[in-house]
Amino acid sequence: MEEIILMTGYRCNLRCPYCPLEKDGPTMADAAALRALDLFLDDRGRKKVRFFGGETLLNFELVRRCVRHAGKGPRYEINTNSYLLDRDKLGFLKKYDFELIISFDFLNKKNLAVFKLLKEEKVLDKATFTLVAAPETVDDLEKNFSALIGRGAKKIHILPVFYTKIWPAGKIKRLEEAVLKIAAGYRAGRYFLEGVVDLEDELRKRRASPRKNLFIDTDGSIFYDDLVLLLPRRERGRFKAGDIGRIGNFSEISGEKKLELEGFFPTKAMLNKERIKSAVREANQIIEKKNAGQNNQSGQKMQ
Ligand code: SF4
Repeated sequence: MEEIILMTGYRCNLRCPYCPLEKDGPTMADAAALRALDLFLDDRGRKKVRFFGGETLLNFELVRRCVRHAGKGPRYEINTNSYLLDRDKLGFLKKYDFELIISFDFLNKKNLAVFKLLKEEKVLDKATFTLVAAPETVDDLEKNFSALIGRGAKKIHILPVFYTKIWPAGKIKRLEEAVLKIAAGYRAGRYFLEGVVDLEDELRKRRASPRKNLFIDTDGSIFYDDLVLLLPRRERGRFKAGDIGRIGNFSEISGEKKLELEGFFPTKAMLNKERIKSAVREANQIIEKKNAGQNNQSGQKMQ
């Protein structure tokens, strides 16, 4: 097993309109998190521990305890909206060389201020910013993208939501326009846009390769895929592969509980997926072409 995802808790200081999580849900107890880490680190191989929420910084003491428990061996990643990030927390994340994944969907004084801190602490280059495109946020997609670039962000993901949201036709048009404009204006080499994420392609890749990660929920329930977070907690039982308190090692969990997303999500929300996917595909092709051109140019310069 290469990666483990620990769900630190469901509480969040924000209320993003597209977020499927129940914000009154529980937080993870130390016992479940430390037990999961012990089992995970017992296995050999490259290791990565990823901390998810809710807002992970609301349960940052758990993150600290986990990292002190596991030490500098594994690589670490934290997913956060960054509003509660301060110098003390960032110092800890820096010490353990954390990869920062920051969701960035609204522009306001608070989340813009975080750039100052990231720059001062020289970690801006390490941060990946995720822009979620949903019907409620798509009108601001270009503005938010420009704000990120303007402040020196180097890695950006754009993630259109189409499994849980029904997109009105007008908003799909806005998405098409926005992603194509962003891709057209993208300058390879100047900054690094990782592309527009296609959730279905992502899922296909995951299925094609052997399981490398596990998602551990706050109560110690084990799932094969963090995509289970898109489902209400009461509907996840059928995908549960085991319980962290009841196994001696990860080979004991049920291999039959792989999450089959397609058959489960509301078909209405999926109705418009082809149009969204084709805009995503087209934008990604433009980006790939520019990246290829940039690579050729730097190859020629070296000759
Ligand atoms: S910051 Fe993340 S967890 Fe919080 S409401 Fe937004 S999407 Fe949900």
